[in-house]
Amino acid sequence: MHEALNRRRFVTATAAAGFGLALGGTAAAAAEQPAPAAASTAGAAEKPALLGGKPVRTRPFPAWPRMDSREDKALLDVLHSGKWFRGEGQCVNRFEAAYAQLTGAKHCLATANGTSALFASLGALGIGPGDEVLLTPYTFVATLNVVLLHYALPIFVDIDPETFQIDARKIEAAITARTAAILPVHIGGSVADMDTILAVAAEHKLPVVEDACQAHLAEWRGRKAGTLGTTGCFSFQITKNLCAGEGGAILTDDEALAGKCYAFHNNCRPRAKAGYNFGYVGGRGANLRMTEFQGALLLAQMTRLEEQSNTRRQNAEYLTGMLREIPGITPARTYAGCTRNAYHLFMLRYDARQFAGLPRAKFIAALNAEGIPCFAGYAPLNQEAFLKGTIQSRAYQKIYSKAEIDRWEERTQCPLNERLCQEGVWMAQAMFLGPRSDMDEIAAAVRKIQGHAAALAKA
Ligand SMILES: *Cc1c(COP(=O)(O)O)cnc(C)c1O
Repeated sequence: MHEALNRRRFVTATAAAGFGLALGGTAAAAAEQPAPAAASTAGAAEKPALLGGKPVRTRPFPAWPRMDSREDKALLDVLHSGKWFRGEGQCVNRFEAAYAQLTGAKHCLATANGTSALFASLGALGIGPGDEVLLTPYTFVATLNVVLLHYALPIFVDIDPETFQIDARKIEAAITARTAAILPVHIGGSVADMDTILAVAAEHKLPVVEDACQAHLAEWRGRKAGTLGTTGCFSFQITKNLCAGEGGAILTDDEALAGKCYAFHNNCRPRAKAGYNFGYVGGRGANLRMTEFQGALLLAQMTRLEEQSNTRRQNAEYLTGMLREIPGITPARTYAGCTRNAYHLFMLRYDARQFAGLPRAKFIAALNAEGIPCFAGYAPLNQEAFLKGTIQSRAYQKIYSKAEIDRWEERTQCPLNERLCQEGVWMAQAMFLGPRSDMDEIAAAVRKIQGHAAALAKA
C-alpha cells in the first residue's frame, strides 16, 4: 500500500515537472498541454484542498437545466395563446405523442409529476387496502409514498449491492396471496433485472409498475425502460435527465389501462377526442394533470435529450474505467441486459478501509473541497420513523391486524441495503455533460484524496 502510494506520488510529481517545462517553452508547446488534465496531475502532488491545498478544480460543472431561445419561444407561445390548460391547448397532447414515439410505447399520459404518474398507475390497477406491493428500499421516498396513499402494504425486497438495483432473485420469496403488484425502480438510470422480474410477474400473474423516474432513454435488451412492464412511470422534475421543473408521464401498451389512468388523473373524466368530456368513468380520481406550460417546455427540452444522454454515457463509462482502478472505489455494475444506462446518477461504493479508515462523510467533504460535488445518497427507507408511524396509524390498524403489522416489521429487513446506504456515493447527471477532461479531474481528485487519506483521517 505504502509503496504504491509513493510510486503514485513520484509519477504525479514528474508529470507536474514536465508540465512546468512546457509552460516555460514556446506558446505552441504550452498549448499542446490540455489544461484540465495537467491541472489534475499537478493537483495530486499537492495538499488536499480540505487541508488548505489548491483544489483540483475551481471551474463549475455544466449548469442545469439547459435552455435557450427554444424554451423562450415555447413558453411565450403558450402564454400569449391564453390556452394554459390541456383541455384547450395542444402542447401536452403533442408531448404525449412525441414521448410515446421516442420510447416505442403505444400510449403515453402526461401527469403533473412523477409521484402522480405512479399514484395514478397503482390507482388504475385497483391497488388498495389489504394489497401488498413489492419494492426496493433503495429509492426516492415517492416510490413508497404512492403505496401508502392507496393504503397498501409496502414490502421491501433487499438490493443487489453490485448494481444498487432490487435483487430480482429475491422477489419470488416475498410474494404472498396478497401481493398485488411489483414496483421495480431503475435506480440511477440503470435498469433493474427485467428478465427475472417479468418472468416472476408472469408466473404469478402480477402487474409490474416500472418506476423509470430516473431512467429516460435507458434500455433493457434494446427496449426502452418504462415500456417493459404493465405501466412505466417517469418524472420530469428539475433534477431529472428530461425536465420541466415538474412533470411526469405514464407509458403503457394496454389501451383500457391507459383509459383508466387518464380518468384517474382527470377526476374520473375520460379522454375526449376534442375539447373536454364531462362524463364520469372508473372509480376514484383526482386532478393530476400537466399544464400546457410543462408540455411546451418538455417539447423544447426533448430536442436535446438524445445528444445529452449519449454524452453522459460516454463520460460515465470513461470515468467508470478510471475509478475501477482505484482500490476501495467500486462503481455500480450495469446488468448485461441493460443495453443503455441513462446515468441519472453516477453511483459507487466507497470502502473506507482502502482510504486509511477515512469515513465516507469526510471523503465526500474532501472531494467537495477539491471542486467535485458528490453526496451520500439514500438512507434506509424501510427504517424511516414516518413509515413505521404510518403502518401503525389508526387507518392502517383498521385494515391490517396486529399480527400482520408485527409480521410486517419482520418482513421488511434489508441488511444489504443498510450496508449499501453506508457505502454509497453519488454524482449527479449534469456533471457528465461537459468535456471528457472533467472525468480526468474527478478521477484525479479521488486519487489525490487516497494519497492523503491518512492525513485527512487524522485532521
Ligand atoms: C423523482 C422520482 C420520483 C418522483 O418524481 P416527482 O416528479 O418528483 O414526483 C419517483 N421515483 C423516483 C425513483 C424518483 O427519482
